Amino acid sequence: MIQPDKNSAAAALAAFLPRAGRDYAASRNRDEGPGERRNVSMLSPWVRLRLLPEWAICREVLKHHSYQQAAKYIDEVCWRTYWKGWLEGRPSVWTDYLKELAADRASHGEDANYLRTIRGESGIDCMDAWSRELKETGYLHNHARMWFASIWIHTLRLPWTLGAAFFLKHLLDGDAASNTLGWRWVAGLHTQGKSYLASRNNIRKYTQQDFQVNADLATEPIDLSDYPEKPPHQPIQPLPGLPTSGRIGLLLHDDDLSAAEWLGDELPVVSVTALLPKSAYAEHGISDRVTQFRRDCLDASLNEADTLCSTESAVLDWARSQELQHVVMAQPFVGIWDSVTPSLAEKLKADGIELTSARHWWDEHFFSHAKAGFFRFKKAIPAALEQL
Ligand SMILES: Cc1cc2nc3c(=O)[nH]c(=O)nc-3n(C[C@H](O)[C@H](O)[C@H](O)COP(=O)(O)OP(=O)(O)OC[C@H]3O[C@@H](n4cnc5c(N)ncnc54)[C@H](O)[C@@H]3O)c2cc1C
Repeated sequence: MIQPDKNSAAAALAAFLPRAGRDYAASRNRDEGPGERRNVSMLSPWVRLRLLPEWAICREVLKHHSYQQAAKYIDEVCWRTYWKGWLEGRPSVWTDYLKELAADRASHGEDANYLRTIRGESGIDCMDAWSRELKETGYLHNHARMWFASIWIHTLRLPWTLGAAFFLKHLLDGDAASNTLGWRWVAGLHTQGKSYLASRNNIRKYTQQDFQVNADLATEPIDLSDYPEKPPHQPIQPLPGLPTSGRIGLLLHDDDLSAAEWLGDELPVVSVTALLPKSAYAEHGISDRVTQFRRDCLDASLNEADTLCSTESAVLDWARSQELQHVVMAQPFVGIWDSVTPSLAEKLKADGIELTSARHWWDEHFFSHAKAGFFRFKKAIPAALEQL
């Protein structure tokens, strides 16, 4: 059970730290099965909300290991930042995914193969086990996510968008960037000419669950020749400066709960609230269990006197009651918040209240390096670690 609070997240990180060095590099590809995984950190539901931000993880890891020893783990933590930055520079990849998803739902929503697969009744033993595990626990090992997506796309020939939506619905760490781009990478849409093909031998070698893998898995990827080119990278716009006077309120949200420290401690904040945008969550089909976990995390990040908002109107009521002139928040990432931020800003503005967003130095440093592949991005890691 993942506990929805920062102390539990910190305790889980502390327990994993001794294994974050060469042990992780040597064993991370093995999926030992539910309840048996000690080779990976399983921190992702908290990292998703930045209850454990990437920089804090790296700082703790480097207290136990040299950079060389922990390079693989630090790389993986930074993959998350890489995907985030990559999508910030190509926001239309997310909006195009949503459009394609709507079309695929209309054409395949009742497809028997699709329905059997999400029910865990595809007849392929590993797929059905992973489907059940995902729905029961909200987690899948990285290798299982790759195998699952590969079989879904290349063997079962189901639309990748429906698979991505199935993951986003159930994963406690479900994230617009890592998930959409993870699925696109497996499909072969991220790096031209490179898709990921799961093989029976690889699944048997790296799992402990005695899967037969009772299906002939695709040996050729799907044809992507009709697929549009990746959009070009757009420079990420600098954000306006933060207010320095007037009554300032801090708005926390599910994209970055660490803002309570890096933003809250920097500004003379008179009041704090948090927003979990209920209607956007429903619109994106996020499961009740994931929504509840995030809500509990947000709640636990507030003081007892502060109330959690689930609508933009509730934020406006809070800002009015606190007589705020400014509301500041961490800049939400491309994803679920796309529809929320503009309408929230408009509502507040109608009352004379300015909404201002800020970016943590970690994102500011890395996002400009997330234009191409991870290999180039990775070169920016040592400079970030020096600033910790
Ligand atoms: C198809 C597909 C969908 C995915 N969807 C998501 C998602 O919605 N949300 C999500 O956080 N990750 C996603 N991932 C990436 C990865 O599978 C998970 O982050 C990882 O399995 C989480 O488990 P962990 O915390 O034990 O990871 P560890 O191996 O212990 O890694 C530590 C942390 O590094 C980050 N990380 C590790 N690997 C990756 C990676 N490949 N990409 C991005 N970040 C990584 C995570 O924040 C993770 O918690 C997806 C991968 C694939 C192939």
